[in-house]
Amino acid sequence: MPYNGGARNKHILWALRSMDEMKKRLQVMKFGGTSVGDASCIARAAKIIVDASKEWRCVAVVSAMSGVTNRLIEAANHARAGNAAGAMGILETLRKQHETALSSLIPQEKEREVIGRKLDDVLAEGRRLCEGTALLRELTPRTLDAVSSLGERLSAPLLAAAVRDAGAAGEAVEATELIVTDAFHGGAEPQMERTRGKAQGRLCPLLEKGIVPLVTGFIGATPEGQLTTLGRGGSDFSATILGAALDAHEVIIWTDVDGVLTADPRLVPEARTIPEISYREAAELAYFGAKVLHPKTLNPVVQAAIPVWIRNSFAPDRPGTKITPQGRSIGGGVKALTAIRDVTLISVGGPGIVGLPDVVGRTFSTTAEVRANVLLISQSSSQNDICFIVASGDAQRTVQALRKEFAHDLAHHNVEHITMDPHIAIVAVVGENMRGIPGIAGKTFSALGRDGVNLIAIAQGSSESNISFVIEEKAVKQALITTHREFGLNAAN
Ligand code: ASP
Ligand code: MG
Repeated sequence: MPYNGGARNKHILWALRSMDEMKKRLQVMKFGGTSVGDASCIARAAKIIVDASKEWRCVAVVSAMSGVTNRLIEAANHARAGNAAGAMGILETLRKQHETALSSLIPQEKEREVIGRKLDDVLAEGRRLCEGTALLRELTPRTLDAVSSLGERLSAPLLAAAVRDAGAAGEAVEATELIVTDAFHGGAEPQMERTRGKAQGRLCPLLEKGIVPLVTGFIGATPEGQLTTLGRGGSDFSATILGAALDAHEVIIWTDVDGVLTADPRLVPEARTIPEISYREAAELAYFGAKVLHPKTLNPVVQAAIPVWIRNSFAPDRPGTKITPQGRSIGGGVKALTAIRDVTLISVGGPGIVGLPDVVGRTFSTTAEVRANVLLISQSSSQNDICFIVASGDAQRTVQALRKEFAHDLAHHNVEHITMDPHIAIVAVVGENMRGIPGIAGKTFSALGRDGVNLIAIAQGSSESNISFVIEEKAVKQALITTHREFGLNAAN
């Protein structure tokens, strides 16, 4: 019998290898704007992708280079005002910026030309959109989406080229082919079932061939194929949408900070990275203005319990923060502190409101009418005062609407005042395991009292995963330092 063991072994080896390939778990990674901010950042991101692709099947989602989306929106606004030249000027600056990155990233002339042409096509589309807008002096939400999405359509081919240059197979893919959304331009909602079908259909064949798809973040399309965007900062959301649609093992958000911190390190020097927090805690922090994640980021992964990491692309050896269904419970229950400053306290009150049964109802139907986002509500038990907090941008029109609603009651002194105070801030103490631990509120408030921080209002969500208090804006730093110390957040947890 002729010996053919070698060939057979090769065959078996090949089969094993491709089985291995199939078994490789899937990771969806997202690179934020600063993580692809210039050529050296893009090269660093490419290296992270190439390293990961040795152990994982990888899908990378990419934001526009930092600042680019803002510039595009500026260009669209110039065009709306009829200033076509202003818009073209911005597009020209963006062309130079991407070309500079391209020429320092890609040494081979041929590849550089191919990518260069791709970028030119995208920019030409931008020019046409801005010319049309300038002509009509009208900027529809649909056109604004088309213009503001150009940044991702420029960065994805660049990163794909960098990944190929760093030694892995990478292919730029437009998210319009993957993520199906409703038609709410500027803040579209994904339709998960359809997205699942499309994303798997388009990406699985690439993954099976060992190719890393580099997907434009922030973008989706309606079932009819009209481009939409998911809202500012929406690339995080793109990553978790794809993570859920592809049954990923994990999602990693690569950004420019070490993860979720116990507090803002600019205010609290002892702030540290939290190793693990729960979905709820992370959402609570996102809501309260710790701008690590787009607020909708965790929605798609909750059901499948896919962990989401936040890691620093500038220090990829650091572990970052892992966001999981339960988080890891720590002794005191308090995980992190956050502060929102750009808020205004509105108060409606006077002794006369005690007898008016509908003041609360009328107050909040008024805020709803003017679409003010109410961040916190507190009513003193004497019922003399209802106070609530809105983003400062909403304050003026809320107060005007309330004065109109209560005009009659003001005239008859049933309602004595409707006032606003912009010099305040909300601080929130967040931790899912605070639930059931008595004394956290007491501990917080006596520490603040001891350190001379005056409390204006207090609220605890019924979820008990946050206690929020309102203080004067100038006391924020002290309040954070005091509570951070009181709950030992600088100690290892
Ligand atoms: N480029 C988009 C923005 O700046 C999306 C993102 O960066 O996540 O809003
Ligand atoms: Mg972002």
